[in-house]
Amino acid sequence: MNNLEQTLSIIKPDAVERNLENEIKEMFKNKGFSILKQKKIQIEKSEAEKFYKVHETKPFYSDLCAYLSSGPIVVMVLEKDNAVIGNRELMGATNPIDAKEGTIRKKYGISIDKNSVHGSDSVENAKIEIDFFFKD
Ligand code: UDP
Ligand code: MG
Repeated sequence: MNNLEQTLSIIKPDAVERNLENEIKEMFKNKGFSILKQKKIQIEKSEAEKFYKVHETKPFYSDLCAYLSSGPIVVMVLEKDNAVIGNRELMGATNPIDAKEGTIRKKYGISIDKNSVHGSDSVENAKIEIDFFFKD
């Protein structure tokens, strides 16, 4: 059964800074994702706080929001069958130490905070996150 989905991906500041944008996009394309929309932006800390609101009670929240707003990021809408879970698999575990061979975080992640990519964790959140960056 086909189940075409869209998900939001972000190439985080640590990866943009190391010029990994094209390598990471190639990994998505090689797995069959289409990049429907994309833009390179830098956001304010206040916007990062809205984006990561789900984590506002966590001890790492302030650092996380400071980090996401610390430099340019690339936000993308990715599409393929079962894109949400497929992107999570391609990203790998949150902590690059735990990420499997062949995943983006295994290949490029530096640490649990500088883990190179964000990806929506559910179809519902994907819609919210795509609207957050691309609603005009
Ligand atoms: N994070 C962190 N310290 C932690 C857990 C998470 O800095 O102990 C950061 C990490 O960059 C992660 C982000 O917060 O990507 C969001 O956390 P989440 O649990 O949603 O992980 P993800 O969905 O990105 O794998
Ligand atoms: Mg998450």
